[in-house]
Amino acid sequence: MNRSYFDEEEAFLEAVEQRYRLKQADEWIFQKYLYDFLKMTNLPLPLRERLAGGWDIIPLKVADRQRSGDGSTAKTLYETADGLFVESVLMGYEDRKTLCVSTQVGCRNKCRFCATGTRGLTRDLTAGEIMGQILNDSPLTNIVFMGMGEPLDNLSQLIKALRLLNHPDKMNFGARRITISTVGIPDGIRALADENRQYGLSWSLHAPTDDLRSTLIPVNRRYPINEVMAAMKEYGRRTGGSLTLEYILLKGVNDAPELARATASLARMLNAKVNLIPYNAHPYADYERPGTEAVQAFSGILQAEGLVATVRESKGNDIDAACGQLAGRHH
Ligand code: SF4
Repeated sequence: MNRSYFDEEEAFLEAVEQRYRLKQADEWIFQKYLYDFLKMTNLPLPLRERLAGGWDIIPLKVADRQRSGDGSTAKTLYETADGLFVESVLMGYEDRKTLCVSTQVGCRNKCRFCATGTRGLTRDLTAGEIMGQILNDSPLTNIVFMGMGEPLDNLSQLIKALRLLNHPDKMNFGARRITISTVGIPDGIRALADENRQYGLSWSLHAPTDDLRSTLIPVNRRYPINEVMAAMKEYGRRTGGSLTLEYILLKGVNDAPELARATASLARMLNAKVNLIPYNAHPYADYERPGTEAVQAFSGILQAEGLVATVRESKGNDIDAACGQLAGRHH
């Protein structure tokens, strides 16, 4: 099995002997998006050959790539070196290219509406595997950690990848163009605040009361709303990163007007915007999508309370790349 460039930096330094070789390789990777050691022409040929034979910059194989009918979304299925599968979704907007990245194979959290939760956690992805998804579709304008898995359950590798992305000597990708989506893990949110970068933080709220939220998101019993609110507030105050509440609308479950008002009050306390996502049916759960009127009524209540509320239609429905539909999609 080849070694992974981003996961084994010390061993790589030993292999190339001089530190500036690492810098040269980084320049090819982050400035020219070139991932083949053989083509790194400022490295000596014998070294290039040795690296090409033993090291992977992207430690993933593309197993499948599907485009949506309108061409705006592409889902890539990757196979890891140990034979597991993860997905990323590339969404092209007019002036933006956003990649939705996975951080785990599976997830332990078992949210009721989520395809990933049905399978449990197989393992965390390494920082190299997270970077691999990103590099394969680079250059990008935005990155969202909203694919398979809970990013804050894989904190060490998430933070390692974030530092590779954001560091001026590495990818130099602006923190404000990166969003981390979490189910709400207070210690993880605080650890992310310790990074002191303006990463966007998106909390999958989906219900504004503990009773209802615990039925949808079992981890709410461990981390109830008020504890996550405190951590989110602290994150916003310490980093200045923007805060968002994600809310999947499920017909007859969490779309009542009083829940919109309760959501508005939480959003106001955090100074967060709200993303409403009408549910996409998939075979893993039997919820239904609310009608257009119910969606408009819910967003109308939030807007009337002075909040920024957008209804986000998931892209890529026809290739199962929309929210909650991937074998591995987060929220
Ligand atoms: S919604 Fe996110 S945290 Fe919940 S089971 Fe799915 S991947 Fe895990």
